[in-house]
Amino acid sequence: MKKDDSDLGYGLALTNNSKVGWAFSLPRTETCINATKICRAVCYGNGIRYQSKGQREKRARNLRTVEFLLAEGGPELLAENLSMLVEQARPRDWLTARVTGRRTVIPFTLRLNDIGDFFSVEYVLAWVLVVRKFVDCAFWFYSRSFVELDMLMALTELAALPNCQGWLSVDSENFSQAILAKCNTPVGVWKLALMQDKDLLPEVLVSLKESAPLGEVVHFPVHRGGHHVEPIRDKVLTTCPAVTGVYKLQSNAALARPCQICSFCLP
Ligand code: SF4
Repeated sequence: MKKDDSDLGYGLALTNNSKVGWAFSLPRTETCINATKICRAVCYGNGIRYQSKGQREKRARNLRTVEFLLAEGGPELLAENLSMLVEQARPRDWLTARVTGRRTVIPFTLRLNDIGDFFSVEYVLAWVLVVRKFVDCAFWFYSRSFVELDMLMALTELAALPNCQGWLSVDSENFSQAILAKCNTPVGVWKLALMQDKDLLPEVLVSLKESAPLGEVVHFPVHRGGHHVEPIRDKVLTTCPAVTGVYKLQSNAALARPCQICSFCLP
């Protein structure tokens, strides 16, 4: 790294939040390359806890560093550095669990792009290398960056890894593209994540029922400040229990978080 680069603030850092546990995030404006108008409007990243100066700076520093490492050494160099982050996400009892053959108290998990999305093929390929390396860590992600074919192919490589689950994020604006992407990729790789805003078009549910088997659509009624739109009910949809309040957010990092307990979205 050049001498003056430190002035720009480089470094990669995870966040640990009360729903998913450990996560890696990037700024939305630069990385949500296929954001829809709907998702921009209702994104939980608009919420106050994601908009503190510290959180915004951390995401900006992550992106600056990701771009720097990709430019200097491609996906391999970025993967080396992301690997150090994944090591930080190991549960405290990871080593003793390995020795004794027991499970860790909290599962070893990492949510990719809790805020932000995959913005380039090279960035995706870096995560492919990392996910392959940490076979005992469960990774998962939701993405709208599947519109361009080269991105879809790279993301499919990532989502096809046994310890990683990818979800194509769907709303009234992009549902036909998402269903097409699912149909054009190997069976069983992708699942669908429906964001239900108050104006969800009826044809979205019809299309999902025609194209996704049971257990392959997670459903997020839009929620803000403890309130959510009335969830539509259909057997093809699995409504996120953290949205409806079945699982409460957990601020104690020593305890499993809702996604780690529920694990529906995890591989
Ligand atoms: S369905 Fe379960 S794993 Fe998925 S986001 Fe909701 S709580 Fe997390």
